[in-house]
Amino acid sequence: MRYIPKKPREGINVSDVHPLVEASTLVLGLTAIFVAIVLVLIFIIEIALYFVPARTEAELFADWMPEDLMTVSPNDERLYETQLLVDRLASHWAEAPYRFRVEIENSDVANAMALPGGLIVVTQGLLDEVGSENELAFVLGHELGHFRNRDHLRALGRGIVISLFFAVITGNDVAGLGIKATDVALRGFSREQESKADEFGLAVVHSEYGHVNQASRLFERWDEANEGALAIVAYLSTHPQPGDRVDTLRAIADRDGWRTDGQITPLIWQ
Ligand SMILES: [Zn+2]
Repeated sequence: MRYIPKKPREGINVSDVHPLVEASTLVLGLTAIFVAIVLVLIFIIEIALYFVPARTEAELFADWMPEDLMTVSPNDERLYETQLLVDRLASHWAEAPYRFRVEIENSDVANAMALPGGLIVVTQGLLDEVGSENELAFVLGHELGHFRNRDHLRALGRGIVISLFFAVITGNDVAGLGIKATDVALRGFSREQESKADEFGLAVVHSEYGHVNQASRLFERWDEANEGALAIVAYLSTHPQPGDRVDTLRAIADRDGWRTDGQITPLIWQ
């Protein structure tokens, strides 16, 4: 018998479902998988942070410095004075598990960051921008707020937090994690984390001076000036818009009945 190949029917490779419906099912499915992965990672970080209490973190990172940090001379007067200011501000957070250390980064770009173990890095560029101790105190108080909420570890990136967790349970050295300052500096915090840090920072400033006069003066100047100015763009990329912050800080002071007048303390080096 001769075999007569039968032609496949037309359109065998074409699905009965409309291609647009198929495409949107694919997009929705991938989005759902992506969201699920992100949620699981956030959950894992919360668990990791629970198992690495702030006190353990403070011990592990007691003398740690980011690999890529270029600091000013250890004899720089501003380093000494900024450390003293941080110590005074931190004294209002009695149960702080960290021994806060200040380093000044040799950079003209204004920025401030909270790093593992209680390390606060401010740049020369930021110190050039602040006009009084009160202004600097608020910037530092804000960073203290990030430590209090442990935002600085969440900002490190999921991979690093998870390796930190394994370093703790296996007893490995955290120096091997290779954390760079830029790992933190390039990641902003969420709006909520930022406003919590602002609220804490303002409370610390109020405890220190008995008023919050000029706490947000730096942001007023930045709001009035060109926000695109190169020197401040790094700080602005990781912090809320200065105008919004000024309004929020004013509202907090109003709500809590804090004085917005009061003696301004000049910076010793100015
Ligand atoms: Zn912040």
